Amino acid sequence: MTQLGSDACPARVAVVGAGPAGFYAAELLLKSTHRVKVDLFEKLPSPYGLVRYGVAPDHPKMRTVTARFDRTGQHEDFEYFGNISLGHDIDFDTLRNFYDAVVITTGAQEPRLLGIPGEKLPGSYTARPFIRWYNAYPDYKGPDYNLDCDTAVVIGNGNVALDIARALASSNDKLAATDMATHAVRALADSQIKTVYIVGRRGPIQSSFSYQEINELDELDNCDIEIDTLDLALDESDQEELDMKERRQPRRFLPQLQKYADSGSGKECRIVFKFLRSPIRIEGNDKVERIVLEKNRLEGAPGKRKAVATGETETISCGLVVSSIGYRGKAVDGIPFDEKRGVIPNSEGRVTKDGQQVPGLYVSGWIKRGPTGVIGTNKVDSKETVNILLDDLPRLQACPDRDSAALRRQLTNAGARPVDYDEWLAISAAEQAAGEASGKPRERFTRIADMLAVLD
Ligand code: NAP
Repeated sequence: MTQLGSDACPARVAVVGAGPAGFYAAELLLKSTHRVKVDLFEKLPSPYGLVRYGVAPDHPKMRTVTARFDRTGQHEDFEYFGNISLGHDIDFDTLRNFYDAVVITTGAQEPRLLGIPGEKLPGSYTARPFIRWYNAYPDYKGPDYNLDCDTAVVIGNGNVALDIARALASSNDKLAATDMATHAVRALADSQIKTVYIVGRRGPIQSSFSYQEINELDELDNCDIEIDTLDLALDESDQEELDMKERRQPRRFLPQLQKYADSGSGKECRIVFKFLRSPIRIEGNDKVERIVLEKNRLEGAPGKRKAVATGETETISCGLVVSSIGYRGKAVDGIPFDEKRGVIPNSEGRVTKDGQQVPGLYVSGWIKRGPTGVIGTNKVDSKETVNILLDDLPRLQACPDRDSAALRRQLTNAGARPVDYDEWLAISAAEQAAGEASGKPRERFTRIADMLAVLD
């Protein structure tokens, strides 16, 4: 039989999930020395995943990578199947019939939970719906945020916690100039929140903040940043840990935290860092009224220090709690899943089941390695997966159905509405035009039906 990956028989690869890992995988496959046709499936009409629906609205530079993704979108061997959800519009067996290999890049969509009493009270939420709310995730079904309280508490010491704190504390002029959803800009303009606590269970050196995110808090002109200088004092173990390679970011941002601790006060709002504290309870009658924190001390060798409860507690009165303690992947029908780690089990990107490779099935991005790293980390990750897939190419079983147009017809006949890349660009242009009218970079559609109406 003709070799898969030749001009006579291009390899057919389906990539599922149009976030950064998916686009990087598609780009690398299309640029390989083999002839590969890539079809990218995405459950929303809009591509870009986390770049569009995760990155903070005040970080437009991080979104410029979409220009690169759009170049992939225009490649002659690339097709986009937006608005097609695996497990809903198409099942895994059909996908296997049409593609020699499938790469799953669906990200980590489920929040990790604190597992403490009161976590489900109105006013206590996880980061994911909050971010979707302000980023205009289509057909958002999460809570309407009541910002009619003076204090919010964000749990977690990662960059997502800082994104949320900035959104809650930024001046409205700043937010209105971004492509934040208009409903969120309005709600935040009416917000009564004056104090945002950021609570971490370990110390600043063990936090996952990046230097850039800590540094840019300086740009919040309306807001004081407060830290207890005692939290910044270093003992011998801290100093040893700070010198470690993996603590490069804290090494860089510690002087900036010190600068905040020494700076003045009296601005209209404040962000207060509270380190070495774990939430143990959220209290209130029928909504959040306060959160109880327990103080921790650190135990263990430098680099492996764990938070250990001291028994001493502290209560903060607040009306909003957002926990931002990481994400986990969601199982996809028909595909192995490691419930404990929240990822698809794999070896260097080859999906495995009971330790054996599942032929023709690959994975990349957060659903492969867990929710770590910045957007560019997904390029390295997808490179590993794509190289492995290309190595496997001579051994892959050729799929029987090799016509993407036939699949598109099949999906349409079954009542789905696949969106191609030119159609996505038309939706995007409509958003930009609407934004011009309201002085924003774009006015994002909040409903899938409105996106599709552009194509009528
Ligand atoms: P993250 O960086 O993994 O941070 C999670 C935080 O939650 C950690 O401080 C962790 O503390 C804490 N945590 C976990 N379980 C907890 C519990 N039960 N109680 C209290 N605290 C708990 O996750 P993330 O902030 O969601 O970010 C995900 C990834 O996206 C990261 O790689 C991040 O850098 C990236 N990101 C980057 C940017 C940017 O570049 N601007 C923006 C947003 C996100 P421990 O360390 O003690 O476990």
